[in-house]
Amino acid sequence: MNKQPNIVFIMADDHASKAISCYGAKINHTPNLDRIATEGMRFDHCYVTNSICTPSRAAILTGTYNHVNSVTTLETPINNRLPNVAKHLQTGGYQTAIVGKWHLGEGEKHEPTGFDYWSVLPGQGEYFDPIFIEMGEEIEEVGYATDVITDKSLKWLDERDEENPFFLMCHHKAPHREWEPHPKNRHLYQDDIKIPDTFDDDYKNRAKAAIDAKMRIKDDMTYADLGLVQPEGGQDIGERATLKSTRRKIPNPKDVSGLKLIDKDSGEVYRFNNREELSHFKYQRYLKRYLRTIASIDESVGRVLDYLDENNLAQNTVVIYTSDQGFFLGEHGWFDKRFMYEESFQMPFLIRYPKEVSSNAICSNIVCNVDFAATFLDLAGLKTPSYMQGRSFRTLLNGAERKDWPDVAYHRYWMHRDPDHNAYSHYGIRTKRYKLIYWYNDGFGLPGTNHGGENREWELFDCEEDPLELFNVYSNSSYQFVLEEMVTLLDEKMAEIGDVPAH
Ligand code: CA
Repeated sequence: MNKQPNIVFIMADDHASKAISCYGAKINHTPNLDRIATEGMRFDHCYVTNSICTPSRAAILTGTYNHVNSVTTLETPINNRLPNVAKHLQTGGYQTAIVGKWHLGEGEKHEPTGFDYWSVLPGQGEYFDPIFIEMGEEIEEVGYATDVITDKSLKWLDERDEENPFFLMCHHKAPHREWEPHPKNRHLYQDDIKIPDTFDDDYKNRAKAAIDAKMRIKDDMTYADLGLVQPEGGQDIGERATLKSTRRKIPNPKDVSGLKLIDKDSGEVYRFNNREELSHFKYQRYLKRYLRTIASIDESVGRVLDYLDENNLAQNTVVIYTSDQGFFLGEHGWFDKRFMYEESFQMPFLIRYPKEVSSNAICSNIVCNVDFAATFLDLAGLKTPSYMQGRSFRTLLNGAERKDWPDVAYHRYWMHRDPDHNAYSHYGIRTKRYKLIYWYNDGFGLPGTNHGGENREWELFDCEEDPLELFNVYSNSSYQFVLEEMVTLLDEKMAEIGDVPAH
């Protein structure tokens, strides 16, 4: 048996921990993801440093914050000459592969490097019959993306050199919008799903960023998001709509009596008596389609775990399940991510490694996606290069809460008022108890951003007293001491990682 452990890193795209049953989700059941937690450890405070796809992936791969790796927005591809964790594992004796979502750019300067085998979706990729860029060549695979990514991952494992350890990044497209479930899962979740308590949030006591964000289920979902076709504009019932028409938002008029929405697959027609009915329809439709794509992920993870069992690899393989960030599932009325509010900031993180992690363990220390690379290298017995900013959390795997652990996570969202979501730029820190956010509201001319100039604002939340983050206590005099402490911590963190404050 190899001394160095194998590492299987499975990452979904936009999978909120609230849609994983081992995190307490009541809305769906994910037995295979739960298996990783029951046979290993669940992290309750794993955070993303920039809650969107491309920057999160860059942070994971390089072990650096986005102002260092320069992947600050969705439109800043990675420079693949930079060192990354796959390159270090490769030189450390590992066979390396990445299959599925890449989303760090295309072409010679941005395609994956450090991988012996790579087969990735261009851009967001497609749910059905996806095109892959495989070692520089374009190929089309037949089938459903989640299944195909799993098939290709297992095929690579099967054909590997059994003498050396492996590092596999299996990156799913699901459950990214627009949510297209496998036909066999279209029947799942017939009963209505409970609407979150904050669905009708009025955004009082919050920064202006909250009310200005165009991420509301009521107002900002498109026909494509919900698998509907527009009745106007010559669309026949049931006909697959053109991209242009499906990208359009579904109207939310005051009087909905004339509105009819049509299912793109079945042709079923929906009509509404009032706006409330319409917004609840959108919520149910969104959540159910989202959860149905997750059903395929859970099944796929089960296949990977079974493969490791059948090939006697389970003992010496680290298995991780995570998502590139969290996601709003109707909390505050939102879908999407971007914000440092808890639902999008928190990443699910499950790890199984029988040699070091006992079963049913829970970690409550704070870790961040920037820490993943250093942790992989530590597990592999390799040195963490000095350029990496994350720290290995291998010592947390023994299950005991560490009092001396630096429980601070840093978040910075740079894409000020991007045209699709209008989310404001901000940075901040979270400790176990508090969260401080500074809305600096400037794009600094970065690709994909708007110029800004909106009033700058602070938010302070007491995550224990106010877990739903409804009351900004920044101006509350009883939090004056906490505020001063948090600002000091923020300054220290920015100095430590070399980011430039705007406050
Ligand atoms: Ca994502």
